[in-house]
Amino acid sequence: MSEFELIARYFTRPTRERAGVGDDCALIDAGDVTLAITTDMLLAGRHFFADADAEALGHKALAVNLSDLAAAGAAPRCFFLSLALPRADEAWLAAFARGLFALADAHGCALLGGDTTRAPQLRVDERTVDGPLTISITAIGEVPRAAVRTRAGARAGDDLWVSGSVGDAALALAHRCGEATGLDAAERAACRMRLERPAPRVELGIRLRGLATAAIDVSDGLLGDLDHILERSRVGARVRWPRVPRSDALRRQPEALQRRCALAGGDDYELLFTAPASARVEVLAAAAEAGVEVSRIGTVTADAGLEVLDADGALLDTTYRGYDHFAP
Ligand code: ADP
Ligand code: MG
Repeated sequence: MSEFELIARYFTRPTRERAGVGDDCALIDAGDVTLAITTDMLLAGRHFFADADAEALGHKALAVNLSDLAAAGAAPRCFFLSLALPRADEAWLAAFARGLFALADAHGCALLGGDTTRAPQLRVDERTVDGPLTISITAIGEVPRAAVRTRAGARAGDDLWVSGSVGDAALALAHRCGEATGLDAAERAACRMRLERPAPRVELGIRLRGLATAAIDVSDGLLGDLDHILERSRVGARVRWPRVPRSDALRRQPEALQRRCALAGGDDYELLFTAPASARVEVLAAAAEAGVEVSRIGTVTADAGLEVLDADGALLDTTYRGYDHFAP
């Protein structure tokens, strides 16, 4: 059973809210404003290396949540922080809080509550080890009721866009595993920044209100996340691989690694969105105002299914999909 089958089978029920399980944010109308609410957990050994930099972790734990708000076009309002800590390490806590609040303050997002517990000690191979550090954040944003956006609004004929570039976070991991070569020090640092300190596209998400018909943030890999838009919007898509934006460092890697990183690598936190072809000029203007590049990588089709075409129009193998916690 995949992660998404599991959620669909056991945790998906009808709701009268605008969006809930299966979207980036739950959308709850409250007068003229709609509240966008999202929650994401980071677990040591699963989402980050146990020796990860504490300040970067504080940043990333909030960033991944703000990224979901960005997909919904919501302005961050506040967040809640729950921690399971193996111990109260003051140097670690100070650095974590620094990273967390630097991002929170940059977005005017206030910490309004949470929960703090001690992670249990575990017996592994006759030894006592710390239970995993676990960080869970719930973030709340606001969007005018008339401007709500979900994964479900893509229409046949819409353009398919992605912000920034994809694949560098996965390239950082590939490099750590010895699979990527030829990166200079500056490129290694840039890829690690993408992995450890993603920049949530909040401003772009807000400026795309009324323009994007559907959006998702790319957290699990471009194609897997695109699938979520296609399923919920009941459409298909054709993606032009040469147009998928990649850094120069990634473009120098072997083609197979490039595809894996850019199409199926996770942790990009870019916005993948659809918009009518008539809105091209406005989309580019919104991106320029937000200070982010956007690339038109394909088209939404009426026929279900996802095709990725190379420069000659030949179909690429697209069996790579995004990260699945329960994949066999
Ligand atoms: P994202 O990557 O945007 O944070 P996920 O891929 O983590 O979203 O989750 C997919 C969808 O399933 C989201 O709408 C999320 O809220 C929902 N979801 C995940 N786990 C659960 C759960 N245990 N109970 C209910 N909904 C869940
Ligand atoms: Mg998301």
